[in-house]
Amino acid sequence: MRLFDSHAHLDMTRGGMDGVSALLDNAWAEGLVGILTIAGATKAGGYEDTFNIVGDDSRMWIAAGIHPHAGSRATPDALDSLRFVLDRDKVVALGEIGLDYYYNHSEPAVQRRAFINQLKMARDANLPVVIHTREADDDTVAILRDEGAQEIGGVIHCFSSGQELASAALDMGFYLSFSGIVTFPKTIAVQEVAATAPEERILAETDSPFLSPIPFRGRVNEPARVRYIVDKIAELRKVDPEEMGHITVENTARCFGISI
Ligand SMILES: [Zn+2]
Ligand SMILES: [Zn+2]
Repeated sequence: MRLFDSHAHLDMTRGGMDGVSALLDNAWAEGLVGILTIAGATKAGGYEDTFNIVGDDSRMWIAAGIHPHAGSRATPDALDSLRFVLDRDKVVALGEIGLDYYYNHSEPAVQRRAFINQLKMARDANLPVVIHTREADDDTVAILRDEGAQEIGGVIHCFSSGQELASAALDMGFYLSFSGIVTFPKTIAVQEVAATAPEERILAETDSPFLSPIPFRGRVNEPARVRYIVDKIAELRKVDPEEMGHITVENTARCFGISI
């Protein structure tokens, strides 16, 4: 089975580099052909931990950006550093960026400013964006439209909303990435979108170490478990899991301009 984890936080792995190698061994053994890992501007180590983990491994790529939780740290200096990071090898997307009104770790107005600035930067850098949106669908869509996101492209990661956001995102040419949430029993709206969205726009991700899919819910997640998410999407769409895995690999490669 061919699989791609389109969103992981390898820099949050416990146990340092040994922890990372164990988790990567599991991933390659499970059939993963790629992992896109997020260089987390939310943590003190900045971006470097991620570049050290990825090295020159041909199966891993990086998205770098300032997370909405850290919106208040999106100072002009921080944006300048990000601009340099985007030029480095392995970086194929800007993200994750967006709005999170559930946690509100940064003021909503500050989050919006950081989001808009980074969308402009993505356009200049000619990179797709990885969007995080939680309890902020209306503002997220309005900003994406205002900033001409149609010409930027990218993915709504960890899709956890319903048809309205899905249609708006698909209309702008975006992809939808499903996480372990799609395996949870009470996420009917998310499952409906996973069952009906156009096949060529669906990605799968673990968002590890968060959001382990069933049957591992509540435990520390890892990229190998993207398999359970693909299985669930295949079940919802009544297609063969192998085929679904193949489709998500192709879609991820297309979304981020990666050749596998
Ligand atoms: Zn996120
Ligand atoms: Zn994430």
